[in-house]
Amino acid sequence: MRVFKFGGASVKDAEGVRNVLQVLRETGTEQTFLVVSAMGKTTNAMEAVVRAYFEDKEALSGALAQVEEFHTRILGDLFPAATHPVYTRVRDLFAEVRGFLAWNKSPKYSFVYDQVVGYGELLSTAIVSAYLKAEGLSNTWLDIREYIKTDANYRDGNVDWDRTQEAISELAGTRELFITQGFLGSDENNFTTTLGREGSDYTAAIIAYCLNAESVTIWKDVPGVLNADPRYFDQASLLHHISYREAIELAFYGASVIHPKTLQPLQRKEIPLHVKSFLNPADPGTVVGKGKGISPEIPCFILKKDQVLMKLSSLDFSFIVEDNISDLFKLLHAHRMKVDLIQNSAISFSVCFDDKYGRLEELLAQLRGRFKVVHHTGVSLYTVRHFDQQAIQSLQNGREVLLEQRGKETVQLVVK
Ligand code: ASP
Ligand code: MG
Repeated sequence: MRVFKFGGASVKDAEGVRNVLQVLRETGTEQTFLVVSAMGKTTNAMEAVVRAYFEDKEALSGALAQVEEFHTRILGDLFPAATHPVYTRVRDLFAEVRGFLAWNKSPKYSFVYDQVVGYGELLSTAIVSAYLKAEGLSNTWLDIREYIKTDANYRDGNVDWDRTQEAISELAGTRELFITQGFLGSDENNFTTTLGREGSDYTAAIIAYCLNAESVTIWKDVPGVLNADPRYFDQASLLHHISYREAIELAFYGASVIHPKTLQPLQRKEIPLHVKSFLNPADPGTVVGKGKGISPEIPCFILKKDQVLMKLSSLDFSFIVEDNISDLFKLLHAHRMKVDLIQNSAISFSVCFDDKYGRLEELLAQLRGRFKVVHHTGVSLYTVRHFDQQAIQSLQNGREVLLEQRGKETVQLVVK
């Protein structure tokens, strides 16, 4: 069994859906499981629907109508005959959302969110499945909520592996082409749950794990995993192979490679993960798998912008040791700061972090009575894995380096 995942960008319009067919013609469809995300930016649009439902009822019907128009336009392009049954299917799905919103009594945001936002994937898979059928590619549409079971932690469901394994095992050994939704599951009472934003990769990994699949392929609009984000670095090149361990390290430092949650089930069963271009399906792309490090062995650059660097020193020249450090971390945690880097000396302690929730002032106020505090906002944190001298120089390049930390494989620079 192979599991393929097509993300929102790959099915953002009719042309994208046609391209899915093209990819499948090239790769074949024997024992393939297709996981598809919501089309384009539909998940964001559905989030706006939920927001309108809670905060601005007048905007609600307009917000939903926009999502419907977007899908109807794609349908019109893919199925010129307006009598095609997919039109009814799509209309029924929208009627279901409207029905839910009309009758819902739950005031719980996250619960409502999952019941509504999940329609993005139900719509996209209904359309893709119907289109492939119309083009002669027989396939079976599955409602993944009957297979992936989670707890009731809406918006970030935790997979119940035993029940999920049992349900998915039923599908083993069939030769059909299955098409199903990423991102979704259901709880004990069969309410829809979601696995967290960008959760479709994780869906593909769960299915692969439960079916002992031979591989997972994530089809993207880039040739694979690059050693740097081309938006910020001008010489990004393709990595051919990355070990699971290295992929987790890169994700830890902030690379938008593959989420560790997705890697864990794959790593446990040593199922390789391919990241490939849906525009050039014959190209090799990147493989994340067993083995060591990365190849080619080139520096990997990760940039986190808009971080805070704070330097604390003791007021009375005493050491900064365990007890003040543990207090400091309690405060950072309490203010939900995401710590990227720490460095300490006898009487000072530096920490670089992401002030995700805008709580810096509050934190500073609490620290000032106890430490001498110097801080810089809006700094950039560069991390280079497998660095060499040239890589470091290219980053320094006339800029003021506020802090540097070097390990064997990784160097980090905080730059103004
Ligand atoms: N459609 C969902 C999202 O945009 C899940 C995914 O695309 O992976 O977050
Ligand atoms: Mg998406």
